[in-house]
Amino acid sequence: MDAQKLWQATLSEIELILSKASFNTWFKTTCITKHEGHSVTVGCTNNFTKEWLENKYHKIVLKALRTLDPNIKFVEYIITTNPSLKPSQKKSSAPLFETIPVENQLELGGYAVDRDTGLNARYTFESFVVGSHNELAHAAALAVTEKPGAQYNPLFIYGGVGLGKTHLLQAIGHTVYENSKKKKKITYITSQKFTEDIVTAIRRETIDDLKKGFRATDILLIDDIQFIAGKDKTQEELFHIFNTLYQNNKQIVFTSDRPPKAISSIEDRLRSRFEGGMIVDIGIPDYETRIAIIKTKLQHIGVSLNDEIVGRIATNAQRNIRELEGTLNRILAYVKVRQTTPTAKEIDQLLEDIARPHTKHITPKQVMKIVGDFYDLDEAHMMKKSRSKELVKPRQIIMYFLRDILKMSYPNIGEKMGGKDHTTVIHACEKIERELSYNTTLSQEIATIKERILRVD
Ligand code: ADP
Ligand code: MG
Repeated sequence: MDAQKLWQATLSEIELILSKASFNTWFKTTCITKHEGHSVTVGCTNNFTKEWLENKYHKIVLKALRTLDPNIKFVEYIITTNPSLKPSQKKSSAPLFETIPVENQLELGGYAVDRDTGLNARYTFESFVVGSHNELAHAAALAVTEKPGAQYNPLFIYGGVGLGKTHLLQAIGHTVYENSKKKKKITYITSQKFTEDIVTAIRRETIDDLKKGFRATDILLIDDIQFIAGKDKTQEELFHIFNTLYQNNKQIVFTSDRPPKAISSIEDRLRSRFEGGMIVDIGIPDYETRIAIIKTKLQHIGVSLNDEIVGRIATNAQRNIRELEGTLNRILAYVKVRQTTPTAKEIDQLLEDIARPHTKHITPKQVMKIVGDFYDLDEAHMMKKSRSKELVKPRQIIMYFLRDILKMSYPNIGEKMGGKDHTTVIHACEKIERELSYNTTLSQEIATIKERILRVD
């Protein structure tokens, strides 16, 4: 088999395993540059792709290659221009900003709700990018679509705002609906709407009809279940609906901004139902995943931005994907209004404008106080020259926030922290950043503290 054919066949294998979005982002522009004996060299058009393939997809690539040619033992990745790409697709010649056709602008936040299912057409598995922060949740969601009601029942997905819970929940709905040739009854509802419906039905004495409707559903998807806290009547009705569906092997999926045990004011019997199936969390996407998400979204609307800009957007929108989409929308709107390609400096300005309105009045002192309060430490104590873990962590978090929210320079932060070297500051910020991608407790703490900081007025 010649190298090109081998790669085509390999890609076909890989395409079966990955979501369309991931495949398009990482593999579409790759090629084989060399195949000699045991080793294969894969060409990538940029460094992001190269690193991503090396770190995340190497096993998949090697396995796929070896099913086609068992002699292959080594795969190497290099950066190259792909000869089969049209010149316009080559990254090197792409302008800083390409002008966007009008019909493609600002579609990122668009809504198109299906009348039969109540699902947003955008929220599918196809458009869902998988990274280490959501891998498990994604796998569990997929498993649910394969055998609804059989394996993980209920499935309980939790995570912070704007991280893809609703997207994943609705993707389950779409897939189950399509797989059943549109025969299964899908019910997607937020817990707020659920509560409203219950209250209205009680008032109008139509609660039996309402319950009948829910019991006839094949898959019940309840979004943001945390809001039923303290709503006794809603909880009671939900408990009964849950039991009926569960006994009939109907799938139930919940999302929440926190795990069941952290939802206060819910009945124990309901909490134990939530905990009775599978619980998965969605964390904060790391840098590479944010890059992948941006690229997927750009691809979707038919826009190409060069890697430098994509990198800047990813750096800027760190905590949440909805924010990231907001940033993209701002940039697209900018292009639309000016009908021109902004310079790198203008992009920075734009990104700064997005970040600044909330934060310009916050001082380093306030950040220190809030972090100190959170960990129950007073400022003088926290700044003591001590390497004890209890003090090092809050200090690192302060430095991280001074950088992340206040956008202070590293030397400046060092000075505020009692004369620390800027390399110490960089190390602290990077350490927290890295840990956020896998340490859920830390990311929850950071999210809580951040909220408090942003509320300062
Ligand atoms: P949540 O319900 O957790 O608050 P959403 O599901 O509403 O968050 O996601 C916010 C936005 O980010 C949506 O527009 C969604 O499409 C997008 N998004 C979230 N995660 C991903 C992902 N993994 N891939 C692509 N888009 C995503
Ligand atoms: Mg949501």
